[in-house]
Amino acid sequence: MSERPIATTDAGSPAPSLEHSQSVGPNGPLLLQDHYLIQKMAHFNRERVPERVVHAKGGGAYGVLEITEDVSQFTKAKLFQKGARTESLVRFSTVAGELGSADTARDPRGFAVKFYTEDGNYDIVGNNTPIFFIRDPQKFSDFIHSQKRRPDNHLRDHNMQWDFWTLSPESAHQVTFLMTDRGTPASWRHMHGFGSHTFLWYNAAGERFWVKYHFKTDQGIRNFTAAEAAAAQVADPDLHIRDLYEAIRRGDDPSWTVNVQIMPFEEAADYRFNPFDLTKVWPHADYPEITIGRWTLNRNPENYFAEIEQASFEPSSFVPGIGPSPDKMLQGRLFSYPDAHRYRIGPNYLQLPVNQPKAPVHSYNFDGPMTYRNPAGPVYAPNTVGGPVAAGPDVWRGEEYELAGEIVRSAYHPHREDDDFSQPRALWERVLSDTDRAHLVDNVVGHASAPEVTDDMKKRVVGYWRNIHKDLGDRVAQGLGVTDA
Ligand code: NDP
Repeated sequence: MSERPIATTDAGSPAPSLEHSQSVGPNGPLLLQDHYLIQKMAHFNRERVPERVVHAKGGGAYGVLEITEDVSQFTKAKLFQKGARTESLVRFSTVAGELGSADTARDPRGFAVKFYTEDGNYDIVGNNTPIFFIRDPQKFSDFIHSQKRRPDNHLRDHNMQWDFWTLSPESAHQVTFLMTDRGTPASWRHMHGFGSHTFLWYNAAGERFWVKYHFKTDQGIRNFTAAEAAAAQVADPDLHIRDLYEAIRRGDDPSWTVNVQIMPFEEAADYRFNPFDLTKVWPHADYPEITIGRWTLNRNPENYFAEIEQASFEPSSFVPGIGPSPDKMLQGRLFSYPDAHRYRIGPNYLQLPVNQPKAPVHSYNFDGPMTYRNPAGPVYAPNTVGGPVAAGPDVWRGEEYELAGEIVRSAYHPHREDDDFSQPRALWERVLSDTDRAHLVDNVVGHASAPEVTDDMKKRVVGYWRNIHKDLGDRVAQGLGVTDA
């Protein structure tokens, strides 16, 4: 029999007892000098880091990205060169529910991927939808507030959700997507992932392109109906965490075909849709998807807290060959994600093993809570004492381009076919099957039939769907019993 180790305090001294606190006689009060008990209780109170305000409930795994095609004419990013294999981590999640909420609730799913590249971390922090509810980060906290709990009674409120959506017509595309059965995926393995935003790619010659990422599931799309999703919420609230974990454990590694859409840099200016608007897709007829590789998940984390709860994804982690676009939502997220991690995990979150780049880090940032990376050398630049020097313009040549304009607060300057309804209309008219349409109508009617939704709001809901398509609106009206909208 192997010898069991002696339990210790966190400072390493042997634990006097794992059962009995120190007391004045067997029946007397406890002593404050029982530092072992005090450490145990105090540490227990601090076991949790703050829950993510959004995407609190999730799970993840490690995997590998393999690039099979040559896209060096579009980007010089090393992870996207033909033959490259890059280790990665994904975290899938719901958006609105808390840490203990059910995996199968109707919600977009977070699809956040970290690539540990030789040039540092590259994160694609996307969703299982190619679009989003809003196009300006000014509305982000308001949108999330409308989806989460009310301040007075601590209940979620569908009236509040429809109030926001019907006053925000740019939400129509994403709400349509959400109310189809794709809003309740059967598992994380059976859904696509999208980078959602438009990003900048540039090649070794400094030529620029706009790009969108599509991760297409090789398992095939599989969704729950509303009834199946509701049943799963009761039967196994952790179904999606379990499904992914078990699949990888039994060697049934899920994979995704990685596709991109590429738009030459100059075409953005007068493309028929605003190509940076996060409520729009790029229709395939204009920009077909090009397959560049495969991404496979093949390893479960060994410790959920260390590797998933503390995992920090940020769309601001770029590598040479890739940069941001002027998508306003992306611009907002470049700030808000690292800021959330600094608050939630601490300013040195990038030193934790799961977040630590595999590339060497030679940064002039130092100290702060719980730091492990303590420089011995110069802590300022420029210096003459051998400190690290900048990569220089050659490495980043291509990410810079000229922009000029008045400082304003305004909507995007519209492109000629921009509106909030034609793309969800195309989804309804051309893409959804009759069954998909019937489920969409049922899901909307079910959601807007919650007892808190007022009669006036139901009329607004009908108007919202009629803007997308008259038949759709009429069917919602019939389902909600609205006759005079
Ligand atoms: P296409 O017919 O070329 O593409 C339709 C897209 O919709 C495909 O990517 C298809 O891929 C996806 N799709 C199929 N069934 C559903 C469903 N039930 N719910 C959501 N998506 C579905 O047409 P366009 O590129 O012109 O796009 C038409 C509309 O399709 C868009 O307005 C948008 O609403 C939707 N769409 C478009 C995407 C794009 O990037 N262009 C991506 C996803 C949706 P798959 O079956 O593999 O998901």
